[in-house]
Amino acid sequence: MTMTDTTTSTSDVEFGRAEARTAHNYHPLPVVVAHAEGAWMTDVDGSRFLDLLAGYSALNFGHSHPRLIETAHAQLDKLTLTSRAFVHDQFADFTAKLGDLCGKDLVLPMNTGAEAVETAIKVARKWGYQVKGVPADQATIIVASGNFHGRTTTIVGFSDDEDARADFGPFAPGFTTVPYGDLEALEAAIDATTVAVLIEPIQGEGGVVIPPEGYLRGVREACTRSNVLFAADEIQAGLGRTGTTFACDHEGVVPDIYVLGKALGGGVVPVSAIVADRDVLGVLKPGQHGSTFGGNALACAVGSTVVDMLATGDFQRRAAELSTLLTERLEAMVGHGVLAVRVRGLWAGVDIDPAVGTGREVCEKLMARGVLAKDTHGSTIRLAPPLVISEEDLAWGLDQLAAVVAGD
Ligand SMILES: *Cc1c(COP(=O)(O)O)cnc(C)c1O
Repeated sequence: MTMTDTTTSTSDVEFGRAEARTAHNYHPLPVVVAHAEGAWMTDVDGSRFLDLLAGYSALNFGHSHPRLIETAHAQLDKLTLTSRAFVHDQFADFTAKLGDLCGKDLVLPMNTGAEAVETAIKVARKWGYQVKGVPADQATIIVASGNFHGRTTTIVGFSDDEDARADFGPFAPGFTTVPYGDLEALEAAIDATTVAVLIEPIQGEGGVVIPPEGYLRGVREACTRSNVLFAADEIQAGLGRTGTTFACDHEGVVPDIYVLGKALGGGVVPVSAIVADRDVLGVLKPGQHGSTFGGNALACAVGSTVVDMLATGDFQRRAAELSTLLTERLEAMVGHGVLAVRVRGLWAGVDIDPAVGTGREVCEKLMARGVLAKDTHGSTIRLAPPLVISEEDLAWGLDQLAAVVAGD
C-alpha cells in the first residue's frame, strides 16, 4: 500500500504497526480497539463491535463498569502499591470479603491465573509433606486431559496440547494425567503419594467442556476418602459466568482450594488468588512464597468491589436468565453449520461444521458483521459475553452467528 491509498483504515495501519514489533505468540483478529463500554467495543475508526469473548471471562462485568472504574480512580489517587513488606488499608477488606464469598478462612493474593495455579501446586505439595506425611519429593498431583491452567513451564508440562508444550521441556515431574470426566480413572490414579487433584470444573480453553453430572461430587468424595486436596481451577468458570458464583456450585461441591483469577480483577487490573482453610493455606510461612505486586492496594480495592458486586447475586442471576436464550438459539443452529453446542450459564462452546470453515474463518466473518469472538482448538468457538449484555444485543449477536454458519 502507498501513502496515497485512501482505502486503508486507521485500524489497518495500527494493526500492522502492532504486529510488526510484537512477538507472534498470538494471532489476533485484525481489529484495533480504542474504547469500550459494557458489551461494546469501538475501534480506532469508530466502528462498533459486540464483544462475545469478554477477555476470556476477565470482563464478566463488562467494559468500564462504573462501580469498578470509580473504585480504581479513587484508589489511584490514594495508594497503589506498598509490597507485602507493609500492610495497606485495602488488604483486610479484600481478604475478608473474598474469604467469606468462598466460605474459607484464608486468602493468598497473586496477580495472574498461572501464578495462582502455581501457588496451589506449591501449597498442595507442602501440605502433602507436612500434614499428610508423603515422603520427601514424592508428591504427585492428578490433572485431567485437555486441561488449561496457564503458561508457566511447570503448568505446560502437564498440558496435552502440543502447541502449548512442544520444545519447552524439560518439565517438572510429579503430575499424573487422567481422562477428564472419568471418575473411575481418577480414583484408580490416587495413591499414597497423591496430594491433590487439580481440575477445571468446566474446561474453558478446551472448548467449554462440561463433565458428566456427578463427576465433581465424585471427585470431592474420592479426595475426602483418600485425604487428597481438591483444587478447583475456577479462573475462567467461576465468578458468575455459569449462573452461580462458582461452577462447583452446580453440583453443590466445595473444593479445598479455590483457584481464582480473570474476573477477580474486574477487567481493570490482574488479580488472582487461592482461597482455602487454615489447615491447608496455613502451611506457608514467611519467605516460602510471595509476589511483589500480589495483593497491591489497587488490586485489593478493585477486587473488593468485584466481591461486593458478586455478593448481591445479581450477575449470577443475569447469567442464568440469559442462558435460556443462548441455549435455545445455539441448539437451533445444530445441523445448520454447527455440529454440537455445550452451554452452562452465559458460556458456550460451539463446534463448527468443518464444511462451513474453520473457527478462525467464522470469527473473521463475524467480525465483518460487527461481532468479536474467538476460536479455540481449530473448530470450536467459545462464547462468553459480558454478563451485563442486554438480551437484544445477545440475540443480535446470535443472529450474526446463525447467518455466518448458515453460509450467508
Ligand atoms: C486463563 C486461565 C488460566 C491462566 O490465567 P492467566 O491470567 O492467563 O495466567 C488458568 N486456568 C484457567 C482455567 C484459565 O482459564
